Amino acid sequence: MDSVDVVVVGSGPNGMAAAVTMARAGLSVRVYERAATIGGGSRTLELTLPGFRHDVCSAVHPMALASGFFRRFELEKRIKLVVPDISYGHPLDGGAAGIAWRDLDRTADSLGVDGGAWKQLFAPLVEHAHEVAQFSGSPIMRLPRHPRTLLRLGLRVLEQGSPAWNLRFAGERAPAMLTGVSAHSIMRLPSLSTAAAGMVLATHAHARGWPIPVGGSQAIIEALAADLLAHGGEIVPGTEITSLSELPPARAVLLDTSARSLARIAGDRLPDRYLRALRRFRYGNAVAKVDFALSAPVPWANAQLRGAGTVHVAGSRAELARSEADVAAGRHPDSPYVLVSQPSVFDPTRAPEGRHVLWAYTHVPAGSRLDAAEAVTDQLERFAPGFRDTILAVASQTAVQVQEHNPNYVGGDIAAGEPSLRQLIARPALSRDPWRTPAGGIYLCSSSTPPGPGVHGLAGYYAARSALRAEFGLTPPRLGRD
Ligand SMILES: Cc1cc2nc3c(=O)[nH]c(=O)nc-3n(C[C@H](O)[C@H](O)[C@H](O)COP(=O)(O)OP(=O)(O)OC[C@H]3O[C@@H](n4cnc5c(N)ncnc54)[C@H](O)[C@@H]3O)c2cc1C
Repeated sequence: MDSVDVVVVGSGPNGMAAAVTMARAGLSVRVYERAATIGGGSRTLELTLPGFRHDVCSAVHPMALASGFFRRFELEKRIKLVVPDISYGHPLDGGAAGIAWRDLDRTADSLGVDGGAWKQLFAPLVEHAHEVAQFSGSPIMRLPRHPRTLLRLGLRVLEQGSPAWNLRFAGERAPAMLTGVSAHSIMRLPSLSTAAAGMVLATHAHARGWPIPVGGSQAIIEALAADLLAHGGEIVPGTEITSLSELPPARAVLLDTSARSLARIAGDRLPDRYLRALRRFRYGNAVAKVDFALSAPVPWANAQLRGAGTVHVAGSRAELARSEADVAAGRHPDSPYVLVSQPSVFDPTRAPEGRHVLWAYTHVPAGSRLDAAEAVTDQLERFAPGFRDTILAVASQTAVQVQEHNPNYVGGDIAAGEPSLRQLIARPALSRDPWRTPAGGIYLCSSSTPPGPGVHGLAGYYAARSALRAEFGLTPPRLGRD
């Protein structure tokens, strides 16, 4: 096998970010991918009917504009990102809904009795959204660069992550909205880690918005692949790596895999203490995915939801906390939390004219074999009567199938490791350079490292930066078109 400077195993957004960074530094780079198509959690395929293009995993990308890697890479100049005026909506029974406009004032004005509380909660963070993004996109072991913004965020996280989380609110819509965002973490609510995720994502919702890529999440990967190839990189799809011995000689190997796969692939080079830390790394609860081809847009009882990029379908804050507690206890909830995106409302390339795709997933216990199509349809019908009549076709994936599709999502955990506070600090082990393993030249660059889950490319970028310094004595290259 020809030797190369750098091998990357896995072509998810982090693997591709690492590969682009290394190739732009002038190194020869080869990416191996087990699946037939590249992209990992950012892929778009016809899952239901011809002409209906569904995002297999990620659909909405709050970090596409906020990520330090994508800003350096100038992603928004390379692909078209639609930013809906309504970042997310949250229906309640009786036709009411909370609407998170990108415009914070408009949101506060629409929230009646809780408008002032919402504005007080978010205005100081939205004003410094760039600093919030910098903090949430950095390893927690680093000293914060903006301590005042961190303090403001921390105080709000303490409040919204504690049993006192209802004190500031009098109505139903505002607390339901914030809980809908916090529940992205798939953990028991309230907790400090769910509140942190909720505050950061909701801040982005009122700052640069929650973008949807035209053409689907695959467009992000295609932009990265084009840049990699233009800088001499190679991509080898359809090749699963099970041991380092299958790789060509290389000075650095970056694994865009789970921590568990790192132990399997590189176990004989890793010291026992580190292997024990990898084995202790916990995987969290899971998702079951459901994609719909529809004859019409979703007939939401509240018509404003038709313009929302994302909809959190779950009912009130108390109901949502109960359903997440069920999942944490290993049960399938009666009234599940359903995360919905309506990309074809904003991007006509996704479906034939007049038709629509609907992307949805629901939270289930790890390793669940439940086909969630009926439960998701029932929950949508509750807030959008007549939804069932618009369905042309359905494609459903259980949590177990989510892992079969991509082994990074152990048991269906789409975060590739529970995003608890402890595991956001020790990800996958406590270290000032968590991407660099104790085996020389071997790096982990997936979302099992900081800053954790999401399509941001930052874990790959940080791992590449670390490898460039340690293995090649190089500083990170410029990434933008220059
Ligand atoms: C259903 C679902 C919905 C999601 N929704 C969103 C969303 O809306 N917004 C958002 O920001 N994030 C979302 N995410 C999360 C997001 O997709 C991930 O956090 C992100 O893709 C992680 O990137 P990564 O590069 O670390 O890993 P991945 O994207 O998982 O890529 C890892 C790649 O490595 C390959 N691989 C693994 N092991 C091997 C091996 N041994 N040999 C060769 N190749 C290997 C895999 O096949 C895969 O292609 C979602 C995820 C899922 C599953």
